[in-house]
Amino acid sequence: MIEIDCEFPGGNVVVDGIEGDRARVRPDLRDTEGHWFYWYFRVRGAGGRTLGFEFEGDDVGVRGPGVSRDSGRTWEWLGAESGDERSFAYSFPEDTREVRFSFGMPYTQANLEEFLAAHAGSTHLRPGGLCRSRKGRAVEFLSFGKVEGEPEHRVLLTARHHACEMMASYALEGMVEAALAEDETGRWLRDRVEFFAAPFADKDGVEDGDQGKSRRPHDHNRDYRAPCLYPEVRALREWARQWSGGKLRMALDLHCPGHRGKWHELIHFVGVRQEDIWARIEGFCEALEAAASGPLPYRKGNNLLFGVDWNTAEEYGPLDGEPRSASDWLSTLSGVWFGATVEIPYANAQGAEVTAETARAFGRDLARAIQQHLCEGIE
Ligand SMILES: [Zn+2]
Repeated sequence: MIEIDCEFPGGNVVVDGIEGDRARVRPDLRDTEGHWFYWYFRVRGAGGRTLGFEFEGDDVGVRGPGVSRDSGRTWEWLGAESGDERSFAYSFPEDTREVRFSFGMPYTQANLEEFLAAHAGSTHLRPGGLCRSRKGRAVEFLSFGKVEGEPEHRVLLTARHHACEMMASYALEGMVEAALAEDETGRWLRDRVEFFAAPFADKDGVEDGDQGKSRRPHDHNRDYRAPCLYPEVRALREWARQWSGGKLRMALDLHCPGHRGKWHELIHFVGVRQEDIWARIEGFCEALEAAASGPLPYRKGNNLLFGVDWNTAEEYGPLDGEPRSASDWLSTLSGVWFGATVEIPYANAQGAEVTAETARAFGRDLARAIQQHLCEGIE
């Protein structure tokens, strides 16, 4: 008998029915305002059959679904030819016990644990506990780079303010790898830069498989106006204030955009309305464009300027001195050059395939850009 479920970390699906070789499924929106497209389910008992999976909306990405045959450890894209934006088909080999499918390539606490285990011997990476989530889960932080003694610079990194935006997590892994690497960039960063990263800014959302984006009454990225609803945001604010110590130069909040169309298929920074801060972000973007040597292209000219597409004053409300997002709040920290939001697409970056590995390579590009930009300083 065919079984479709999501009873595992990150899981998300509503099954409306299975009739013959056809399954009708959709994302479980839970407390999402409006529609969003994240889903992640497992199929068992389908060995030897070809099944079609049909969605109500356009909830399949531009390279088809992510597919995992090892219980979510590794992923690949099934390919655009497997269906269209509302469906895909899959032929299950005879001896298949389970196959997992998702909008993306899910990354949960188990992935982080595997990553940390692989670097357990490093004296330049120290995981710690930031706080407990609303549901009582331990929320991790990573301290890496120059973790002993006084650094010259500090850099703060956050991901998963929107729980479903998992490709950002692979980029974060790439940044950590770059700081631990036995090469010029790694040594330079370890000598001078103390990094602090919050890999799961919405821990419950990541583990429960929520959309996270547009969560009611507001999502984690919109929680930076006091009083903050979420323990992760409260803890991050407290930590960042104390820890920055006048040496925090840059803060990057890693996101993934929407799922189809121009802004959703290229890497970009999100423009801000404060011109001085935007000029500093663009200075970093120049360093990134120069440093980007990985498979995912980045062009400063692709940035989403303030006032364009969704990135408008209406989205954020009046400029009243209250922070409107994580990066906006980070930009207010004493001495910081900028806090910025960078969007890493789920599947397609200007024609290049986004995968766990290429997103990690982009993370290494970001780390090289940080090195370069810290060397240059700001004018
Ligand atoms: Zn986001």
